[in-house]
Amino acid sequence: MKRIVIKVGTAVLTDNNNIAKERMLNLVQFIASLEKTYDIILVTSGAVAAGYSALKLDKSKQIGKKALASAGQPILMSAYKNNFDIFSIDTAQILLTEDDFDSRKRTKMFQDIIDAHLKNDIIPIVNENDITGTPEELFGDNDQLSANVAYATNAELLVILSDIDGYYDKNPNEYEDAKIYKTITKLPKNALLEESTPTDKFATGGIVTKLKAADFLMKRGKKMLLCNGFDLSSAESFLLEGKHTLGTLFTP
Ligand code: ADP
Repeated sequence: MKRIVIKVGTAVLTDNNNIAKERMLNLVQFIASLEKTYDIILVTSGAVAAGYSALKLDKSKQIGKKALASAGQPILMSAYKNNFDIFSIDTAQILLTEDDFDSRKRTKMFQDIIDAHLKNDIIPIVNENDITGTPEELFGDNDQLSANVAYATNAELLVILSDIDGYYDKNPNEYEDAKIYKTITKLPKNALLEESTPTDKFATGGIVTKLKAADFLMKRGKKMLLCNGFDLSSAESFLLEGKHTLGTLFTP
């Protein structure tokens, strides 16, 4: 079966420091509808924001962020479990750091674990292990983590679900006349050097980390689709009908 990685960001998953319940249910329902066609690995953000519903700490401070992430991770996972239970789908939690990709031995270990899950129809849910990782050991954003997971697990496509329809020639939240790119085979010059501009204060990525993820995959002959996670219709038509409607396809 074809293997894909789906990454969902804070903007889609959380609303006012809480898990956006309806959007999570829509996402899970969507994944359930893909399960017959694809082996799916889910990379999810949202732990820090979910933690904020349990304790109010300053996420700009290192310990605050880690305490929020460790409180939020089980909140996030139990919310996923409740939703996947509706579709009788089992899930597993995998927490990784950048270091796990540095050594062949460690990479092989989580590759084998993920293979075992997928063989048994379990959806691995991956997040960065923010809790014990030092800044040097962390990617710092799930966009780059998901690209590395996609490559290491030999997935054919990474789908990034965000709060925008795709990649534009300028920030669409600032410029009304921003134009969306449908297909990118080569990133515009200096695109990777721009400032990161995440929408949510709990988000760490912004467009630049998504472009870095795309760049990483394109250089390795892989594809990435950046599309809307609020309205899943463009992801659905791409994945289930093979139609590229909205969303930016980064392809080598
Ligand atoms: P997520 O939480 O899904 O990772 P982010 O908030 O980190 O999402 O990143 C998406 C945001 O990046 C968009 O909402 C938009 O405000 C911003 N952005 C900046 N420049 C661009 C651009 N050229 N094209 C698309 N989005 C952009």
